[in-house]
Amino acid sequence: MTDSARDPLLDIRAGDRWLVAVAHPDDESFGCGSTIAHAAVQGAEVTLACATRGEAGEAVQGPVGHGDLGVVREGELRRAATRLGITRVELLGHRDSGFDGELPVGALCAAPVAEVADALLGLLRELRPEVLLVLDGSDGHRDHLHIGAAAREAVTRMDARPLLVEHCLPNSLLRRWLEEMRELRPDTAYHALDPAGLGRGDTEITDVLDTTAVLDRREGAIAEHRSQVSPFDGLSDELRRAFLTTDHLARVELRGAEESPGPEHV
Ligand SMILES: [Zn+2]
Repeated sequence: MTDSARDPLLDIRAGDRWLVAVAHPDDESFGCGSTIAHAAVQGAEVTLACATRGEAGEAVQGPVGHGDLGVVREGELRRAATRLGITRVELLGHRDSGFDGELPVGALCAAPVAEVADALLGLLRELRPEVLLVLDGSDGHRDHLHIGAAAREAVTRMDARPLLVEHCLPNSLLRRWLEEMRELRPDTAYHALDPAGLGRGDTEITDVLDTTAVLDRREGAIAEHRSQVSPFDGLSDELRRAFLTTDHLARVELRGAEESPGPEHV
């Protein structure tokens, strides 16, 4: 039985249950990997729900070779999950929508939010987790926004709601990242984005975790995604450390499902 007075994010205990819901293989490692590993080393049983197999990812040339990118990426996901301490991986069976353009058949964004929420609700009812962790979607990827919306809807349908936590990248950190990326990868699509709108406003962050102790796990998980270009490749040591050893989180407070579809950030 959960101690209702306990803060499940600041006081993680052995046997706690966490559900992490992401859109693509690598979101768990490039995104919220340090928070996952941080929870796992303290004994939380972490289940990962991944909506797609990342078929629209940009495969790097060389080590992957030919074949179905989704198969390759599922393998990478499962190995990375093990590195992070995730005990169970559930694939929801949608196809990667891609960053933009026409939606492929079966794409995550072609499925109604309510339908994706149904799948998450099934896991929430089975697991009864203390925490549901998602990416905040502030990078603008439509799949990240879609799975986030589904997570919010699923939580509003629960009687005993888990703490919904969004993993965020603060604007101040992303501005530093963009400056370095402009020199490293002049062709990246992120260059079209307005620096002022990048990431999450720093004042919206509710919790900052020092995840230095699990850096090796995070690095190991990132390294498993060989088919993908790591967003941290080539960054200065200082900026890489800033990304990988400090995680920024925002607790989400939701109204009842019948009142408003929008989240309120604490
Ligand atoms: Zn993603």
